[in-house]
Amino acid sequence: MPADEFRTAGHALVEWIADYLQHAERYPVLAQVAPGEIARSLPGQAPEHGEAFGDILADIDRVIVPGLTHWNSPTFFAYFSICASGPGVLADFLSSAFNQQAMLWRTSPAATELEAVTLGWLRQLMGLPDAFEGVIYDTASISTLHALAAARERALRGVRRTGLADRDDARGLRVYCSDQAHSSVDKAVILLGLGHEAVVKVATDDAFRMDVGALAAAIADDRAAGRHPLAVIATTGTTSTTSVDPVPAIADVCERHDVWLHVDAAYGGAAAIVPGMEWILAGADRADSLVVNPHKWMLTPFDLSVLFCRHMDLLREAFSLVPEYLTTSEAPEVRNLMDTGVQLGRRFRALKLWFVLRYFGAEGMRSRIAEHLRLARLFAGWVDETPGYERLAPVPMSVVCFRVCPPSLHDDPAALDALNERLLQALNATGKIFLSHTRLRGAYALRVAIGHARTTEAHLAAAWRLIQDTALGA
Ligand code: PLP
Repeated sequence: MPADEFRTAGHALVEWIADYLQHAERYPVLAQVAPGEIARSLPGQAPEHGEAFGDILADIDRVIVPGLTHWNSPTFFAYFSICASGPGVLADFLSSAFNQQAMLWRTSPAATELEAVTLGWLRQLMGLPDAFEGVIYDTASISTLHALAAARERALRGVRRTGLADRDDARGLRVYCSDQAHSSVDKAVILLGLGHEAVVKVATDDAFRMDVGALAAAIADDRAAGRHPLAVIATTGTTSTTSVDPVPAIADVCERHDVWLHVDAAYGGAAAIVPGMEWILAGADRADSLVVNPHKWMLTPFDLSVLFCRHMDLLREAFSLVPEYLTTSEAPEVRNLMDTGVQLGRRFRALKLWFVLRYFGAEGMRSRIAEHLRLARLFAGWVDETPGYERLAPVPMSVVCFRVCPPSLHDDPAALDALNERLLQALNATGKIFLSHTRLRGAYALRVAIGHARTTEAHLAAAWRLIQDTALGA
């Protein structure tokens, strides 16, 4: 693409993006297309001859946008509401232009060193100790996988050479998490070859927090039966309700039994930067590793997950493997990102976190997250004071779990579930808001998650009116 054409096309694209980000609520939040519809509207083969950039851009409006679920909409309340801020989007654009492949320090000194510096800033913001070294991966699932690989390396020295098959100490390895922990824990355990049976789901209390007595008992029972407790995953901000496991007490148990403690703060870690919310990460300073996802609640476009680990040497022991063609002449202490994980190539992800942290500043990040916390409390209050509605979990952060619960159905759990499921489908079909659901103690629960920088009290009030009106016909 000649430079002049790039300039013209680039300006047109930036105009398009600026307009889109400003007016994302023009579109139905949840894509209103049928499976296969987008694929059918595209040609089955790549074009033989190049096409004009304008024609490609026109197809963005015609084909692609109708197939987007608009995570950028301020009325996206499903899963965890996230936000791609302007500076983050621009940084990703620049990152593509730089096309850095930061496998080795020498292949991108800037990406390597900016990552270390930016993660140092993030660590300070979150109040974590300097002993945590950080590394960026794509998602929390991958961060947790690497944390557990390091834990396995510590528990089974030399496992990368021996494998698991013929080792007595590899039999009966156990990884503990609460019954509210994210499925990425299960996947990591499966992938590490421990078998899904190795995951022990510990019961939770009435606020969906891990029962530490049950954890201690499970570990003691396993030890007595000759099994090997490997790691505990404590979640600070669980996926369904954002409950926070009691990390200080869990850390006591881990220390007593010499078990790796990994804190899954993928979502909740962001809230800990808000004054008064530091309690979310209480005890996390005693963890062996912690994951936080700036792409969830820190205005950073997907994807960017951070693993903080106090034993990065173990992660390197697990994954460093240097073929001749990747050897370098730098001093051994120079950090090569390829040594800290499965993948060789690395995108320049730190750039977007750096842009975001600089553009908003700590104060700007805190105030936006604090506003989401306020809005969630407000919404919870509306639910609490409205007859025929029931809140199903405490609201420590920015997710409210609730259901419509007319008195006539109080004693009919199946009918209540069916009603709420119908309500959710009807709401999402309006295209005006997008909510998701979970099950809590067996009950079907609607979730309103607040996390977009442009979500206002007016958006939330309109959503609440829509929920109540739609419930009348569900
Ligand atoms: N941990 C928690 C607590 C989550 O809520 C999620 C996703 O929502 C994950 C891990 C996995 O996140 P990712 O999509 O970054 O793998």
